[in-house]
Amino acid sequence: MNKIETKQVVLLAHHLKALRLPTMGAEAEKVAARAAADNADHLAFLLQLTELELLERERKAAERRLKAARFPVMKSLETFDFAARPSVNKVMVSELARCQFIDRKENVLFVGNPGTGKSHLAIALAAAACAKGYRVRFSRVTELVTHLIEARDERTLLGLKSRLAKLDLLVLDEFGYVPASKVGAELLFDVISTAYERTSVMVTTNLPFESWTEVLGSERLTGATLDRLTHRCQIIETKGESYRLRDAKARITRGRGGPAKKGSSSAPEPGLEGGEKTR
Ligand code: ADP
Ligand code: MG
Repeated sequence: MNKIETKQVVLLAHHLKALRLPTMGAEAEKVAARAAADNADHLAFLLQLTELELLERERKAAERRLKAARFPVMKSLETFDFAARPSVNKVMVSELARCQFIDRKENVLFVGNPGTGKSHLAIALAAAACAKGYRVRFSRVTELVTHLIEARDERTLLGLKSRLAKLDLLVLDEFGYVPASKVGAELLFDVISTAYERTSVMVTTNLPFESWTEVLGSERLTGATLDRLTHRCQIIETKGESYRLRDAKARITRGRGGPAKKGSSSAPEPGLEGGEKTR
């Protein structure tokens, strides 16, 4: 490389940095060398370089969205055994993975006993939404309520609420394991009511609707919460016995020399274990 070329490369790196095009900066020399070898024209060179910048940006944005969603573990629809959970309609779930319900601001409720795959499905669908560019936040109900109460005490509630309002999909996992305090229930209702027709809410719960008062305390608040959540909402019931239990039983049978079961997962993830009780 002669002196003039070296100066050009340094200047180009500077300009691309100033323009916030780091991938173009990093790849320019390599792509230029390849273009020269392939006899590609200037426009083809520029096209390749801009494509690399865009791809890298999209990759980073997807990574950021996934991190911001704060999933406790990763789950996908590919690893969900629909045959083991016949009450869950695979076509309906696949349709949800297309995320049109988010555009329509509709809600999704997963109702069923512990270990029946509610969190698995919620995480898988929310991750699919992340991949499509939607802003998602996954939170256990107790965690969110604690955050809301802390934010209220620290006078940062407005900030937290405006961050929640920017979401496309809010996942509220494990509604019903712990009763909320009066203040907690009111703050939770406030979030659900603000989200109404603006942000899709996905809830997983082991509680039938008639028992929601046990968590929210008052009939009035429960009625108002259910009214907002269930208006324009799809309900998926995960009926049957716990997948974990089934898995454990199969392992014991295998240990005794019984037939091996195909397609069962290994030990359950700690992230999804907490706070469950059978009702
Ligand atoms: P829930 O939220 O209903 O209590 P989870 O979604 O946490 O249940 O499921 C418990 C464990 O069993 C998780 O590790 C999950 O991935 C697994 N699991 C549950 N149902 C299925 C299924 N149908 N196919 C594959 N794995 C499943
Ligand atoms: Mg769960």
